[in-house]
Amino acid sequence: MLSYFLQLFNRKDSLFLPPLKKMISINNDVELTRWNIQLELVQTFKNYNIPLSSSYWCFSNGVTWSLFDYNLKKKKYFSDAIKLINDENFDTLHSFGGYDESNGKKITRTLIKKALKILNDNKLKTKIYTNHGGSNDKQNIGGDIPVYQMGDMKNSKYYNLDLLLEYGINFFWTDDDYDNILPVKKINQDFSNSLIKPHLTRDGSNILRFSRFRGNFGTKKAPTINNFHEQIKYVVSNTDSGFSIIYQHLGCNRLQDNSILPVSNLKNHNLEKTLMILEKKQKSGELIITTTQKLLMYAIINYFKCWNLSEFKDSIDIFLHDKVKVFNNQINLNESDYRGWFIKTKKEKSYNVFFKKKKNINTI
Ligand SMILES: [Zn+2]
Repeated sequence: MLSYFLQLFNRKDSLFLPPLKKMISINNDVELTRWNIQLELVQTFKNYNIPLSSSYWCFSNGVTWSLFDYNLKKKKYFSDAIKLINDENFDTLHSFGGYDESNGKKITRTLIKKALKILNDNKLKTKIYTNHGGSNDKQNIGGDIPVYQMGDMKNSKYYNLDLLLEYGINFFWTDDDYDNILPVKKINQDFSNSLIKPHLTRDGSNILRFSRFRGNFGTKKAPTINNFHEQIKYVVSNTDSGFSIIYQHLGCNRLQDNSILPVSNLKNHNLEKTLMILEKKQKSGELIITTTQKLLMYAIINYFKCWNLSEFKDSIDIFLHDKVKVFNNQINLNESDYRGWFIKTKKEKSYNVFFKKKKNINTI
């Protein structure tokens, strides 16, 4: 597998070299997903060579799988779950848990502090955070018109944004960050149809928000597995070039009367038929499907040009940056953020790649 470097090296004006036009990530919210269904989802996607980005909860006492219960007792599958977090199968922290699925427990700063300590103790690094739920999920981070989010209000007992930033969250999805019409985005300085945008929160922090594509399918509510097929067809039929992060809840099924049930059998929902469409498109080279973390880092590395080149007669030295200023935020870059995929080069010169003074890091 070749890496980003060859693309950076050969890059002219286009973000992607043809035939590649799009990078897609399916960002899947965890609520109502049973652990066995979660594992089946990971495996089913893998069977089609499609990474699935799932979110995870720290707390739940209900059907939704989580790392531990409200008394911080680890669930029996804890060690399997942390492996999947480390492998970026679960790359999104979904607001710690949900009031409705937890017998009415509210998630306070005190509880969040304890949860983050466990994540840190287990060296679990997650860069992406998404809001969840309804009026009782007060730990959420506010958007432009916050209704039930108190996570960025300093005087609230639900305040936790400072803890999330300290923990290492770089990207936030607040409730305003969905799009029903335009599935493909780029990074834009005027922030129109932009994949990411800066936001000043109520505690004075600068955060980066990212957009997810929801779409207006079926009951016109947050999408669940029953409209995944329609949603994917809509995304792949759009011919724009850019990035799509798709908002889904594949572990649950919304009925016509708007009630939501946990999925008990993946076979009933056209899932494999939908994955076949994606697999075919990916094989054709038109799009690539990756994790949400990789997609966001790729977009940033390309847009902010996180490298310097020194060209010599027979060779080129490539110096990769270890941090980048993204609007008002600084993001640290790891060697692994540059690793990736594809792109053939016709350049005849040899190249040396440097990261933090280390020469010829493993690029292939
Ligand atoms: Zn949710």
